[in-house]
Amino acid sequence: MVKTTEVNLGARSYPILTGPGLLEQAGAWVGKLNPTRIVIVTNETVQPLYLERLAASCRGIAPVSSVILPDGERFKNFSSVQKVLDGLAAAGADRRSVICALGGGVVGDIAGFAAAIWMRGIRFVQFPTTLLAQVDSSVGGKTGVNLPAGKNLIGCFHQPSLVVADTQTLETLPAREVSAGLGEIIKHGLLGDAAYFDMVFRNMAAIRRLDHEVLAEVIAGSCELKAGIVSRDEKESGIRATLNLGHTFGHAIEKLAGFGTWLHGEAVGCGLVLAADLSRRLGYLTPEELGRVTEAVRSAGLPVRIEGLPLEAAIACMKGDKKSAGGHIRFVVLHGIGRTTVEEAPMELLRQTLLWGGYR
Ligand code: NAD
Ligand code: MG
Repeated sequence: MVKTTEVNLGARSYPILTGPGLLEQAGAWVGKLNPTRIVIVTNETVQPLYLERLAASCRGIAPVSSVILPDGERFKNFSSVQKVLDGLAAAGADRRSVICALGGGVVGDIAGFAAAIWMRGIRFVQFPTTLLAQVDSSVGGKTGVNLPAGKNLIGCFHQPSLVVADTQTLETLPAREVSAGLGEIIKHGLLGDAAYFDMVFRNMAAIRRLDHEVLAEVIAGSCELKAGIVSRDEKESGIRATLNLGHTFGHAIEKLAGFGTWLHGEAVGCGLVLAADLSRRLGYLTPEELGRVTEAVRSAGLPVRIEGLPLEAAIACMKGDKKSAGGHIRFVVLHGIGRTTVEEAPMELLRQTLLWGGYR
């Protein structure tokens, strides 16, 4: 039951494999890259769960070593990158060695960045183990780390050679993290096509109880949508910006509530509801469609309201967003389900949406 999705980027194209039990078979896939050495990067939470499974399947191919990072977004920094680079040096990695990133988005972003800069760039394989990483961060080639001044300020584009999403690994993931991944999945549905959105909507309960057949279909569908957008705009000069649907609102929530209070996917879920409401106020979305978006987010186990965060601070925060320029806030808005534009919204409508969403 393996689903394969191709990311078409010319010479940098790669497949995404999705299905249960793929870690045990990883060696067969990694072996096709003919690596001289394999360095697995993971963290202290994922290591006891899955490292041995992946390492065992790779040992027949090349010498395997590992780097174990501390767990947490706060360790997505240069010192973790340094740790990976030191691990590569200690393993005697060369230009034909391969890094395997085993973990969530944090591990993937750090390991991918290390792969991009070790000897000016070596190949890496993503083994995402969170739902968010399987549908979002492992696809598209953005790698990097945070600075004290802000999230993801450092990084580069470096596409993986392969992505292997073993849905069985999600069985140990906390339910809250599953819901967070659903925030980005619903976003992909809203961006991509109404049929996919409906499929996710109908199957929400099955996804949340990790029905493998449904999961593989949903994850592959989500990857396909993101891959389609990335293929058309690898370095975000145009359409890739629509992947920020819900994120202008979401980033403000994360920041105002204090980073880490809301998971990113939770803030994105709530941000989708706000973006849908703004779209309705602009006359682009019907009240019924807004209702469906809200219901999808709610049934994913995600918050649909902000309780009492300050409205003026939210506006100031959105003006300072990486994607805003010259004090103008640009939003990805929905025109029905499956079509978007990026535009500035009148300040009055924005305030109405924020009040509606529970800001004070
Ligand atoms: P994460 O990597 O912090 O993982 C969440 C938690 O789950 C961690 O504690 C982790 O150790 C644990 N975990 C991972 N797999 C597990 C498993 N199978 N069982 C039990 N526990 C497990 O968070 P995330 O949501 O995966 O990723 C968020 C990061 O991804 C952020 O840093 C964000 O900036 C980045 N991101 C990158 C992109 C991109 O395009 N590169 C896109 C979206 C997000
Ligand atoms: Mg996101």
